Amino acid sequence: MLKKSLTATLALFAVMLLITGCNSGTTADKQTAEPVPKDETDNQEKTEPANKQIQLPQEHLQKHENNDSVKMLQEVLNQVGYNIDLTGTYDEMTTWAITDYQIQQENLSVTGIYDDTTKDSLKNSLENGASLKSGEGIGKNSSDAAAINNPHEILALVNKDNALPEGFEPINLVVPDVQFPFEDFLPKKQMRQVAATAMEDMFAAADEAGLELYAQSGYRSYDRQDAIFAANVQQHGEEAANNFSARPGESEHQTGLTMDVTSPDVNFKLTVEFGETDEGKWLKEHAAEYGFIIRYPKGKEDTTQYQYEPWHLRYIGEKAATEIMEKGITLEEYLGEAS
Ligand SMILES: [Zn+2]
Repeated sequence: MLKKSLTATLALFAVMLLITGCNSGTTADKQTAEPVPKDETDNQEKTEPANKQIQLPQEHLQKHENNDSVKMLQEVLNQVGYNIDLTGTYDEMTTWAITDYQIQQENLSVTGIYDDTTKDSLKNSLENGASLKSGEGIGKNSSDAAAINNPHEILALVNKDNALPEGFEPINLVVPDVQFPFEDFLPKKQMRQVAATAMEDMFAAADEAGLELYAQSGYRSYDRQDAIFAANVQQHGEEAANNFSARPGESEHQTGLTMDVTSPDVNFKLTVEFGETDEGKWLKEHAAEYGFIIRYPKGKEDTTQYQYEPWHLRYIGEKAATEIMEKGITLEEYLGEAS
């Protein structure tokens, strides 16, 4: 009540000021009439600072989580220009919006995950009243309905049922500062920055433990995968080739989040014996601490549709990697998409 009458008094006072301030009866006066609501706004801002109305979840959030914090995040996303249903579930649409937002910010890692740096950036966007163009970063969805519509998020599922869009190229490919069994630059040395940094940390820890890990093969373009698959079909027949090789679009190596690793004990080969080496055992134990999983584990061939590959590491972030490795499950099972 008190606030209401104060506002009314202020408004009246402003109107009086306007009347007394009228020197000429031109149309310009109509424009100067605007300060009336502005005074009210100023008054409100003093009692309720704008930044107190904005609530950003404090904790790290990612795909498939469901709680009130996710709903808060969805409200924030809508305030900066998205149009998301407030479901409280970190669904495909929420992941898509976070990814799209991250692509539009120069200093953010593109992950699709709501982490501390994304939180700080969103806070800035809100305070500056930034309004983003939804879809500007990630682009329109692929016209191919079967293709993954958000290949940039780090939890993207790429397999024989979920292909990357044709022509997809990952963002921020770099060569991780780790050892390779060859010197020259080859495109396959590359990974996405977010995965490369994690891989450097993991290799440093392995080195500390007295191990000799080598990176062998990371990023592969769509065209390169096309050539590899064609060569394998020619040599082994299509059915056999499909069991150990991927069709273009269906290889995780195209995401830039994968690296095949090896060691001198197996002559730098990508072979099942690598799993029995000290390096292979160490990875099984520790890869998740750096956000990596052994993507095609032993005994899960029916789910992954791949044979056991102890050398094939996929980056998905620490939170999901820890759960997957502890439970001994696959990415398909984690995402609830196991067939
Ligand atoms: Zn691989």
